[in-house]
Amino acid sequence: MRPIQMVDLKRQYTKIKSEVDAAIQEVLESTAFINGKAVTDFAAGLSQYTGSRHVIPCANGTDALQIALMALDLQPGDEVITPSFTFIATTEVVALLKLKPVFVDVDPKTFCIDPVAIEKAITPKTRAIIPVHLYGHSAAMQEIMAIANKHKLHVIEDNAQAIGGDYRYPDGKAKKTGTIGHIGTTSFFPSKNLGCYGDGGAIFTDDDALASRLKMIANHGQSRRYYHDMVGCNSRLDSLQAAVLNVKLKKLDEYIAARRAAADYYDKAFKAHPKITTPYRAPYSHHVFHQYTLVLEGVDRNGLNEFLASRNIPSMIYYPVPAHRQQMFAAMGGGNYHLETTDWLTERVISLPMHTELDEEQLQAISASVLGYINN
Ligand SMILES: *Cc1c(COP(=O)(O)O)cnc(C)c1O
Repeated sequence: MRPIQMVDLKRQYTKIKSEVDAAIQEVLESTAFINGKAVTDFAAGLSQYTGSRHVIPCANGTDALQIALMALDLQPGDEVITPSFTFIATTEVVALLKLKPVFVDVDPKTFCIDPVAIEKAITPKTRAIIPVHLYGHSAAMQEIMAIANKHKLHVIEDNAQAIGGDYRYPDGKAKKTGTIGHIGTTSFFPSKNLGCYGDGGAIFTDDDALASRLKMIANHGQSRRYYHDMVGCNSRLDSLQAAVLNVKLKKLDEYIAARRAAADYYDKAFKAHPKITTPYRAPYSHHVFHQYTLVLEGVDRNGLNEFLASRNIPSMIYYPVPAHRQQMFAAMGGGNYHLETTDWLTERVISLPMHTELDEEQLQAISASVLGYINN
């Protein structure tokens, strides 16, 4: 059996090596390392793929969130509602900009922000909501947009884990996650569903005025060289990364299908086990399985993690400490939150290897080991 990894980037690269190497070589020959043709091609390709009117490439997914918030022209102390059950970047950028993160609980089935909890957390200082499509499952966007419209709030979708995913409306129409809120953001970190070979990110919007602000902010606050109208930053996707992404974007749907097939295999293996809850797939979400995350009840989770490791099977806890319990937010009252579901999930989740290259032999070995430990 081939060694099992959380993410097998090497094998994926081997299959597209000739295309990727040629694309990289082309950038090297052109020497257009910054804002070259590869970058404009990629932005156009991603705009077409997602249906988003504007795609603004930037340096990484954290910058994408920061630039999105900067474009909204918020004031220090303004409140931004976010889940606590997420990667730290979602909440960190809020505090970095001297805004106040307001942590709310998630839905225990989807792991995504709970619309009822959002509405309860709204105060006169609330300005924005950042739903996260965690693990590749869409947040409940229709409810979230309705709340935002009612209270005149901005919505920034953190789509770092769900690029290529869909949100389906009750009438059957679908939109890509990241294109439903006023702004969407994503990351091309190597292990993400559309990953480059370094850092990268992008921002999505359909709003022309927001798009020009976002572009300016990512480029030192200028739209004309050396004339700086607002305080911005320097956040670019470099041409070499864009060249890799141009090749991989063409494969994204294939990659998603491979992830979903692996998830189907796991689902079947763990189905109806009294101690295991497999990932829920809400009817409105076309899940893209950035992670395959189980919720365990009455299982020594750390024991399972160690047992799997002893058989050379990696597993991960995403995330061991929720944002509201991070030291980073202690001075902002993080410890005062009571987020029951977040704490409950934090004790029980475990993510299994999930990538585009898993074969049946590996999936069989992983499932058998998990079940072997739990049934023992
Ligand atoms: C990865 C990730 C980010 C940050 O992306 P980087 O490119 O690593 O900066 C933000 N939010 C979520 C939910 C992520 O998973």
